[in-house]
Amino acid sequence: MPLEAINILGAGQCGTLLAIMLARQGFIVDVYEKNPDPRVFDAEAGRSINLALAARGINALKQAGIYEQVKDLLVPMRGRMLHSEDGSTSYQSYGQSAGEEIYSVTRSGLNEVLLGVADRIPTLRLHFRQRAIGYDAPDGTIHMRNLEDGSLYEIETGPLFAADGAGSIIRRSFDGTDTFGGVESMLRHGYKELTIEPGPNGEYRLDANALHIWPRGGFMLIALPNPDGDFTLTLFLPNDGDPGFSSLTTPEAVDAFFERHFADVKPLISNLAGDVIERPLGILGTVRCRHWHERGNVLLIGDAAHAVVPFHGQGMNLAFEDCVVFDHIMRTVGGDWRYIFERYEKEQLANANAIADMALENYIEMRDTVRDPKFALRQQLAFELERRLPEYFIPRYSMVMFHADIPYAVAQARGDVQRELLEEFTADADELADVDIGAAARAVRERLPAVDSERVDRRLQGLKKSSLA
Ligand SMILES: Cc1cc2nc3c(=O)[nH]c(=O)nc-3n(C[C@H](O)[C@H](O)[C@H](O)COP(=O)(O)OP(=O)(O)OC[C@H]3O[C@@H](n4cnc5c(N)ncnc54)[C@H](O)[C@@H]3O)c2cc1C
Repeated sequence: MPLEAINILGAGQCGTLLAIMLARQGFIVDVYEKNPDPRVFDAEAGRSINLALAARGINALKQAGIYEQVKDLLVPMRGRMLHSEDGSTSYQSYGQSAGEEIYSVTRSGLNEVLLGVADRIPTLRLHFRQRAIGYDAPDGTIHMRNLEDGSLYEIETGPLFAADGAGSIIRRSFDGTDTFGGVESMLRHGYKELTIEPGPNGEYRLDANALHIWPRGGFMLIALPNPDGDFTLTLFLPNDGDPGFSSLTTPEAVDAFFERHFADVKPLISNLAGDVIERPLGILGTVRCRHWHERGNVLLIGDAAHAVVPFHGQGMNLAFEDCVVFDHIMRTVGGDWRYIFERYEKEQLANANAIADMALENYIEMRDTVRDPKFALRQQLAFELERRLPEYFIPRYSMVMFHADIPYAVAQARGDVQRELLEEFTADADELADVDIGAAARAVRERLPAVDSERVDRRLQGLKKSSLA
């Protein structure tokens, strides 16, 4: 298709990567973004500062030829460090093979790299401070406001990729219709971000190669390292009640709350009460749709199509995977936009629903289950089964985080069978020596198909299956 023009709404991670991929396929791409250029003015300050990047995101960045530019921004996290109330710590490895690690990356650093690459493509134009204010479905036009001078104008869909995030105006303009059938489910928990500054010589004040968790049952605190020696902490808590953000409104209340639940980390946060009280309260929710496209005119993509809660660290990874899947379908399947959108939706919608479920489950795992000795035992058994039968058993966390060629829906379905197995064979065991591992291995082979039969190759153009991490 020669130099056809397409429009993308939103220059977040998904919109920008998609723009790069489609421009490289020969399209003229216009990207409209309501915020100013973040390389000049960071309007997103206050939004989650760092993110966990895993195999699916890395695979996408590699396919777009951007990974080398991102590599220097990454801080590896090889496992979770659990902090108990009494100040003791315990470490749980995320994987067991070389390279089975996830990476902390700053949102701003990653976006700057993406926008820098986009800027250098002559057929890709970035338009900042341009806000979509409505979508006229019968005419296929998007109503826009130029925030520089307040003027109004329209753009044609021809088609439009709506990468305008969880609160997508395009998706919401169809609320109450069957077109997308979008449902937003808000969590009654929110989050606030805090900071642990580096030590006097720029050193990290916690182990730099772990994701730190202070699991407290109904709530938790986590910390991810940044490249400059600091950590970004995120406090996840119910919005109302006690404990809840609504009860943390005075310095005394904040001080008492941290003294009681997070005494070890309290001295490391310099402006604790001020930050907890003044920093914005982030909202958390899941967006699910029945459909992602409106005839051949509009495609919802990234968070606009499927926002997920952040507890599996997969929202951005999924948004990047969307770009890979779409790019691959464009390259391998002919046909008009409508057909391409249908094929894409058919391939990716079940995967988005699967990770949405797994992300919600992971909140309970991170804030609560990780403390259970049975959780550690099941993880040991899972690693043992993976060592013995790598072609049949890969722990669910590993399938999601380290295996970009295993679709999320497959990871979820296999994960359900594996969880039953792990529960069954550890039911009467206190330690691994008590488990009949031979019987467990036989059960694995009986109940699960070989993993290779469920892998997909489309994400791996030019890459070996094992070279993702
Ligand atoms: C606390 C928290 C922690 C997270 N941690 C992780 C993690 O560790 N790992 C991970 O993979 N994911 C994580 N995520 C999820 C991740 O941030 C998102 O999934 C990802 O940013 C989605 O990218 P996107 O481009 O689809 O949407 P966005 O990044 O939201 O981009 C949408 C863009 O559209 C623009 N826009 C919106 N409306 C309009 C309009 N009307 N007109 C023009 N432009 C518009 C916005 O300004 C924005 O630039 C986390 C999320 C949160 C909230």
